Amino acid sequence: MAQIRFKAIEKLFERQAEKVNFPSNKASDYFGENVFDKSKMRKYLSKESYKSVVKSIESGKRIDRKVADQVAAGMKEWAISQGASHYTHWFHPLNDATAEKHDAFFEINTKGEKFENFDGELLAQQEPDASSFPSGGIRNTFEARGYTAWDPSSPAFVIGKTLCVPTVFISYTGEALDYKTPLLKTLAAIDESATNVCHYFDKNVKKVISTLGVEQEYFLIDNALYHARPDIALTGRTLMGHSSAKDQQLDDHYFGSIPDRVMAFMQDLEIESHKLGIPLKTRHNEVAPNQFECAPIFEETNLSVDHNQLLMDVMRKVAKRHNFRVLLHEKPYKGINGSGKHNNWSLATDTGVNLLKPGSTPRQNLQFLIFLINTTKAVYDHSDLLRASIVSAGNLHRLGANEAPPSIVSVFLGAKLTQMLNELEEKVSEKKMTPDEKTALKLNVGKIPEILLDNTDRNRTSPFAFTGNRFEFRAVGSSENCSSPMIVLNAAVANQLKEFKIEVDKLIESGIKKDEAIFQILRKYIIESKPVRFEGNGYSQEWVEEAEKRGLTNITDATEVYKAYISDSTIKLFGDNNILSEIELNARYEVRIENYTKKIQIEARVLGDLAINHIIPTAIKYQTVLVNNVNGLKNLMSEEEFNKMAGARIDLIKKISRHISSIKNNVTKMVNERKRINKLETEEEKIDGYSNHVFPYLDKIRYNIDKLELIVDDKLWPLPKYRELLFNI
Ligand code: ADP
Ligand code: MG
Repeated sequence: MAQIRFKAIEKLFERQAEKVNFPSNKASDYFGENVFDKSKMRKYLSKESYKSVVKSIESGKRIDRKVADQVAAGMKEWAISQGASHYTHWFHPLNDATAEKHDAFFEINTKGEKFENFDGELLAQQEPDASSFPSGGIRNTFEARGYTAWDPSSPAFVIGKTLCVPTVFISYTGEALDYKTPLLKTLAAIDESATNVCHYFDKNVKKVISTLGVEQEYFLIDNALYHARPDIALTGRTLMGHSSAKDQQLDDHYFGSIPDRVMAFMQDLEIESHKLGIPLKTRHNEVAPNQFECAPIFEETNLSVDHNQLLMDVMRKVAKRHNFRVLLHEKPYKGINGSGKHNNWSLATDTGVNLLKPGSTPRQNLQFLIFLINTTKAVYDHSDLLRASIVSAGNLHRLGANEAPPSIVSVFLGAKLTQMLNELEEKVSEKKMTPDEKTALKLNVGKIPEILLDNTDRNRTSPFAFTGNRFEFRAVGSSENCSSPMIVLNAAVANQLKEFKIEVDKLIESGIKKDEAIFQILRKYIIESKPVRFEGNGYSQEWVEEAEKRGLTNITDATEVYKAYISDSTIKLFGDNNILSEIELNARYEVRIENYTKKIQIEARVLGDLAINHIIPTAIKYQTVLVNNVNGLKNLMSEEEFNKMAGARIDLIKKISRHISSIKNNVTKMVNERKRINKLETEEEKIDGYSNHVFPYLDKIRYNIDKLELIVDDKLWPLPKYRELLFNI
C-alpha cells in the first residue's frame, strides 16, 4: 500500500508547469464567444423575434410559441456553427450540482431523411425524469414527473460540443424542484418593492435588480495525490492526517507569488470562463497552503449564480487538464483554513444607481440609509433562516472555527455608519422635529460619503459586513449553490421594503411630511434591529457571550439549524411573497437534512474502511517489526541488559496495541450506531442520529489514527501525509 503513496509522490515530481494555449487576441475580443448573447441574437434572429426575446428578458414574461420556434432555429444555427452536435436543458436540482441530459440535434424522419432539428418546443420545455433528483416529500405525494422550462434571462451557451439552455425545473404539479425557480421569484419581488421605495425619490426608476459578485475559494491538489487519498476522492476532505509541522503559521501563502503550475491552471480557467461569458477578474493565493481564490465582476444575481455554478464545473474540468483536482469542500484539511464563497450583494436601479452606495446629496443619502437599514433589519428578522441557507455538512466545520464567521448572524456597518445610526436614533423622535433639528440632521446625512472615505476598517470576522458600496455575506460555503442564501436574502429584503413602504405611507397619510415619516420609521428599525449590529471580533468568546445576552441565536446543531426552513416566520415570508409554499418549504427542509445525513454516512463508511483495511494492517506490520526486534534482542542480551534497553520498544508495542484496539472498538461502535439509525423512520430522527451519535466517532477514530501516523515507520504509511498534500505544487 505504501507504494501507492510513494508512486504518487514520484509522479508528482516529474510534473512540469503545464502550457496554456493563449488565444492570439485579447480577452475583450473572445469574451462571450461561446454564449448566445444579444450580439449573436441580433445576427441569428429576425428583428421581430430579437425584440420579443429582449422584452421577455427584461420583463421576465414567457415567450410565445411562434417566437420560441424562431429563437430555437437561430440558436441551433449558431450552436452548430460553434461545432455543437447536441443540446441540453441545464438546471440546478437541489443537490449542489448542475444537471444535464444531452440529446443530439440529429434526427431521421419516417422517409429516412437525415437532418438537424431543434424547435421551439424542445427549447421551451423538456421532461426529464424527476424521480432521480432530490425532491423532499413532493415526489412521494405527487407525480414523479417533472419538466424543465427555458429561462431566457440567462443566455444559452456552448460547452464542448453541447448547447446548454438554462432552465427552471418544476414538478408536474407546479412545485419548484430547483434553486432557480424561487430565486427568480425573489428577484421579481425585490424589483417590485425596491422600485416602489425608490419612487419616494425618483419616479423614473422602472426596475431594481439585485447584484451579486461571488469570491470563490478553493484548494488544488495534484491528481496523483488525490487518487492516493480515498477519503479526499470520495468525501472531498481528509478524514485523517496529522497536522504538518509547518502549515499556515507563517502567513507566507496569502497573496504570495503564484506557483507556475497554478498560474497555468488559472490562466486556462480564465480563458475558458471568459469564452463562456463569466467575467473573472481577480486571482490570488489564499491563507492556507495550496488554497486560492478567484472573483468575477459582479452581475445581476440570477446570471451571477448561473455563472458561479458553471465556473465550478469549468474549474473541475480545467484542473484535470493540468493534472490537478480542485477541492471545493469547505474544510478539506483539519487545522488550517477552509474555503468559503463571499457573496457580495447590492441593489441597483435601471437609472444606474447603486442603492447601497452613498450619493452626493442628502436625498441620495437618505435613500442609501433606507436600503442599508432595511437590509440590516431583514437580516435580523430572518437570521435563523439565513444560517439554515448556508449550513451543510461541510460548512459546519468552518463556521465558528476561528477562520470563518461563527454561527451567530450579525451585521457589521463600520464605526462611522454606526455613529450615524446612533445619531438618527437620538435626534429623530416621534414628536415633530423643529426646522433647525431637521436641517442639522439632513446636513449630517449629507456627510456620509465623506465619512465613508476614511471608513477603512474592514471587519473580516463578521458574517454580514457592509463594505462601502455593498454587503458581503461571508458565511456561504465554497461548494454551495449561491441561490440558497440569495433566495433568503432577497426574499427577506423584498418583504422588509414592502413593510417599510406601508409604514411610511401610513404616517404620510396621517399628515406627517415624507422625509420625517421616513426618518421616524428608520429610527424604529434602528432600535428594533440593534442587537444584530456588532463591530467587534466575531471570532471571540466574548462575542458568543454577548450575543447570548442580546438574545441572538447561536445554533450549531444541524438538526436544529434546518428547522428554520419550516418555522412560522419562514412560511409567512415565503407564502406572503408567493415564493415557496409550505409544501415546497417542507420539501426543501427534507432535502437538506437528507443531504446532511448522507454526507456523514458516506464519511463514516469511508473512514471505517480505511481504518480497518489501511491503517490497522499497517500498524500491525510495524508492530511485528518491533516485536521481532525485541525478540532478537532478548536472544542476544543478558536479562539485565535487555531490561534496560528494550523498555522503550516494548512501550511502543503496547502503545500501538492500544491505538489499534481503540480504533477497532470505535469502528465497531460506529457501525452499530449506523445500523441502528438507518432503521429509524423519519429523516429528522436520522439527522439527529448521524450528527449526534455517528459524527463524534469520526473524530475519535481519527485521533488514534493520527497518533499512529506519528509512530509508524514512514516507509510503511499508506496515505500521503499533510506535509505532502499541502506542500507539493
Ligand atoms: P475583497 O476580497 O476585497 O472583498 P474582491 O475584489 O476579491 O474584494 O471581490 C469583491 C467582489 O465584490 C467582486 O466580485 C466585485 O465585482 C463585487 N462587487 C463590487 N461591487 C458590487 C456591487 N455593487 N454589487 C455586487 N457585487 C459587487
Ligand atoms: Mg470580499
